[in-house]
Amino acid sequence: MTPSKPDSSAAGKSKSGPQKAMEKLGLRNDMDLALHLPLRYEDETQLVPIKQLREGLTSQVQGTVVQCEVQLRSRRQLVAHIRDEAGDELVLRFLNFYPSTQKALAPGTQVRIRGEVRGGFWGREMVHPTVKAVSDDTPLASSLTPVYPASAGLPQAYLRKAVAAGLKRADLSEVLPPEVIPPRMLSLREALQCLHHPAPQMSLDDLEERSHPAWQRLKFDELLAQQLSQLQAQRERALQRAPRFEVRLGALHERLLAVLPFELTRAQRRVVEEIAGDLQQNVPMHRLLQGDVGSGKTVVAAMSAALAIANGWQCALMAPTEILAEQHFRKLVSWVEPLGIETAWLTGSRKGKQRRDMLVRVADGSAALVVGTHAVIEDEVHFARLGLAIIDEQHRFGVAQRLALRAKLQSSGESDGGQPLEAHLLMMSATPIPRTLAMTVFADLDISTIDELPPGRTPIVTKVFGDSRRDDVVAQIAVEVAKGRQVYWVCPLIEESEKIDLQNATATHQELCAALPGVIVGLLHGRMNSADKAAVMARFSAGEMAVLVSTTVIEVGVDVPNASLMVIEHAERFGLSQLHQLRGRVGRGAVASVCVLIYTPPLSQTGKDRLKAMAETNDGFEIARRDLEIRGPGEFLGARQSGAALLRFADLQGDLHLVQAARQAAESLWDQHPQAAERHLARWRGVRPEYLKA
Ligand code: ADP
Ligand code: MG
Repeated sequence: MTPSKPDSSAAGKSKSGPQKAMEKLGLRNDMDLALHLPLRYEDETQLVPIKQLREGLTSQVQGTVVQCEVQLRSRRQLVAHIRDEAGDELVLRFLNFYPSTQKALAPGTQVRIRGEVRGGFWGREMVHPTVKAVSDDTPLASSLTPVYPASAGLPQAYLRKAVAAGLKRADLSEVLPPEVIPPRMLSLREALQCLHHPAPQMSLDDLEERSHPAWQRLKFDELLAQQLSQLQAQRERALQRAPRFEVRLGALHERLLAVLPFELTRAQRRVVEEIAGDLQQNVPMHRLLQGDVGSGKTVVAAMSAALAIANGWQCALMAPTEILAEQHFRKLVSWVEPLGIETAWLTGSRKGKQRRDMLVRVADGSAALVVGTHAVIEDEVHFARLGLAIIDEQHRFGVAQRLALRAKLQSSGESDGGQPLEAHLLMMSATPIPRTLAMTVFADLDISTIDELPPGRTPIVTKVFGDSRRDDVVAQIAVEVAKGRQVYWVCPLIEESEKIDLQNATATHQELCAALPGVIVGLLHGRMNSADKAAVMARFSAGEMAVLVSTTVIEVGVDVPNASLMVIEHAERFGLSQLHQLRGRVGRGAVASVCVLIYTPPLSQTGKDRLKAMAETNDGFEIARRDLEIRGPGEFLGARQSGAALLRFADLQGDLHLVQAARQAAESLWDQHPQAAERHLARWRGVRPEYLKA
């Protein structure tokens, strides 16, 4: 077989099969091997008398072969009987076997057998046990036998030897000063020794559940490496320069407060102050503003923009969808244009002369506030003086877009003492990041949280119905509409097929039109062009349309305070956070709102858990916590966060105390023992660098 990719290492061609298989598993150096931990263990440290064997358990017995023959029952098989010292017998059965197996089981041979016991037709037996010839003085294993994650072409025995050798050679000397290591932890060497070769009396449960002190050390070291690398990034950022915004020029943001139709909540005032505090520094802000759906992040963005603009800098606000960008644009324009601030609107669908005019106004600086989709960061967009970039629903942007944004942040061309100025960055998200994730994956971000909703909101009541009650739901729509309220109906998301998506939405649209004579029912889906989408959305926003049937294009941020009923069909197909986002489209005004989740039975247990969680709580943080619990950090973060550090040993749900300890240790290491910090990082960076975020 020819390798599909040229092997870059010089010795590549001459490597043996198992060696290649090891490389594929990422086992390249001694440290890799030392950190290749067993999946589980086999207990070969004791012998069980045949009489005491229990069905379903894997055990080791020793005895003498009393009989061995090839039988031709339903299929050809090798059947042997062994008898132990106490005189009890056990049947061994091999459906596939080599002549060597038969030879090894010649009557009279003393053998050590290991396998799972099951109740056979003729008494208890083991099928395909491992067989080892022994003599009276063959010692038992002194530690549990590790079973490693392996692959085809990499025999367990080969891997065991390689790992044992790697473990012996790897430099596992202690690099950390004792005061940063949490109490009662093993040294790394002891920890690895114990995980690879646990003593027989060790609790397998502790080991396999990863709660054993040896695991604690390993997880701590991993988390520490991650925290060190993030602190490093943070400290490097602290050396960069950004424009300093004076707040006394902020008469503008006071004037903005005066035009707003409401007072800021205490939480909003607090986060505005946190942001203003950053913007007064000459170091680029790198802040995440998180707040539940409806908590009022947009106005915080507007206040931040006002600070930048009052200081003569431009602000860009970017939203993930055109609908959302447009809505922001309208709202912000209504707030800031009365103050004499010029705005520009940039999206992919805006073409030709209009677009060229916009680009000119962005480039010459006359547009102080630029709102749009990711069109805002396209190559041909040049800002005269970009001082602040705000990203709404940041988790919806991909890695490529973030990189493009970075380039824009550095584009002002101005400098401070020779150092180029970088724009400040504010990211907003309604999917709160649970604390553990915030401290690990996002450790180099500062976080502000809006933890209170504007006053006068009536909590949303969530009901879960089977689809047999669809008619009742339609009747409820008629009631809401009669009261002058508006209704969303969201159709299922079927990822594989946009077409089916569309059919569902169209069919539901027709059904509702027929069931609700005289009511204007609109339809919105991803296949419509953006002008049509905008037109439908505008009619719904203006209250001309009572019911809006849509696919998930309305998922994020849309704000129509008069909407009081949200129906989500096939709710079992949505993720928790997504349901919460959708639900957040209602309950935005003072009217009591209801969210109806319609499911199609049968529901899986997870499906039940999810819908139950939705009915039980309106708290976005609690929802995020449960979502993380149900899906795990990898999926929770999703492809959109790819490049984020995923941990190999530590578990963000269970190991919060270790995360905190690692955080503290990382700070004191960089401050007091930078060399130890470097050595620790180097040790872990050499190992599968993809696990650590640089
Ligand atoms: P989100 O945080 O989900 O982006 P929005 O910024 O869209 O929330 O705000 C939700 C709604 O609440 C909007 O209609 C907004 O105008 C309104 N709002 C925001 N702040 C306040 C406040 N302090 N008092 C009353 N209403 C507010
Ligand atoms: Mg929003």
